[in-house]
Amino acid sequence: MIGKFGQRRERRKRPKRPKRRKRPKGRKRLNLYICRMIEGNSYLLAIESSCDDTSAAVMCNGVMLSNMIASQAIHAQYGGIVPEVASRMHQENIAIVVDAALKKADVEVSQLNGIACTAGPGLMGSLTVGLSFAKAMALSLGIPFISVNHMRAHVLSHFIDDPKPQFPFLCLTVSGGHTQIVLVRSPPEMEVLGQTLDDAAGEAFDKSGKILGLPYPAGPIIDKLARQGKPIYPFPIPHIDGLDFSFSGVKTAILYFIRDEVRKDPEFISKHINDICASIQHTIVEILVRKLTFAAQQYGIKEIGIAGGVAANSGLRDKLTEVGRVNDWNLYFPAMQYCTDNAGMIAMAGWFEFLEGIESPLDTKPFVRGMQ
Ligand code: ADP
Ligand code: MG
Repeated sequence: MIGKFGQRRERRKRPKRPKRRKRPKGRKRLNLYICRMIEGNSYLLAIESSCDDTSAAVMCNGVMLSNMIASQAIHAQYGGIVPEVASRMHQENIAIVVDAALKKADVEVSQLNGIACTAGPGLMGSLTVGLSFAKAMALSLGIPFISVNHMRAHVLSHFIDDPKPQFPFLCLTVSGGHTQIVLVRSPPEMEVLGQTLDDAAGEAFDKSGKILGLPYPAGPIIDKLARQGKPIYPFPIPHIDGLDFSFSGVKTAILYFIRDEVRKDPEFISKHINDICASIQHTIVEILVRKLTFAAQQYGIKEIGIAGGVAANSGLRDKLTEVGRVNDWNLYFPAMQYCTDNAGMIAMAGWFEFLEGIESPLDTKPFVRGMQ
């Protein structure tokens, strides 16, 4: 090609975008599934690095062989997660964690048939570490790369162990960064019915703990102290339309209450810590359970799953069990190792895609928000 000033210019070829394979339907989909099963064992490696936990898991034919997690205790001294520190720690840990997961599963790198990894939502730097690692590994091994949405994976963590919920079911996902009620019709068909407008439930526990001078993350400590106290201090339950949540008003009410009481008696917190924690927990649990009950009634669904780190809360479990008995719900809690951030749930979500022959382009970018 001759350029504007007569010199010869090479026409630059646009690199071809790898196409997202279409989801096969009906008989073809079934054949594909059977074919993959007959070919032999299929091994999937999964990587999760969306926040402050570096995790890797290995799955064989949908069965979990290993789920390794390196947590970053370093953030406790700052009273919350420092994104830049989290990315650096992921960088240090990722190869070690992946290696440990493969060793525990007794699987060689050469045996892998696919690599799944969280693409978002999460911290941009943290996600980039995991994604780059997973994509480079998939490219060098010539196997499919499957990007996974962290929030969808929390929901699909219910399919790792038995008993599994029946479709359609409602999932309350409660973690340090998210609070959602999701209607799940099938693995790919999810609809967010409601979510937090400000703080997440775990964040509400952690920020309340900060006001009381408790170390981060305060959720488990508040849970422990609350068991020895009574919810005698009334904090307001916000009235938000529909199925959305709000926790920032509760946090402010706790802040002002503690400030006023400490002015009258500087020893107030230490004298009444158990009752204060019981009151905080009671309020957060009430907000969650009222909305979930409303959603279950509105959609006429009795299959209810709970996911995310706050699912560990004993007050939430007790209240759900009580309300579930009254409403005739079937309740599902994944094992604790699959509730907090873990690659096991990423493997489960990736496995559903893998079975359908879906793979993601290698130019998949990390994202901070969304259910895509
Ligand atoms: P994220 O993915 O947003 O980092 P996780 O799913 O890892 O969140 O869960 C961590 C959150 O769960 C923290 O906010 C922590 O305080 C909260 N948490 C963990 N255990 C409990 C508990 N027993 N009671 C209340 N909150 C808890
Ligand atoms: Mg999470």
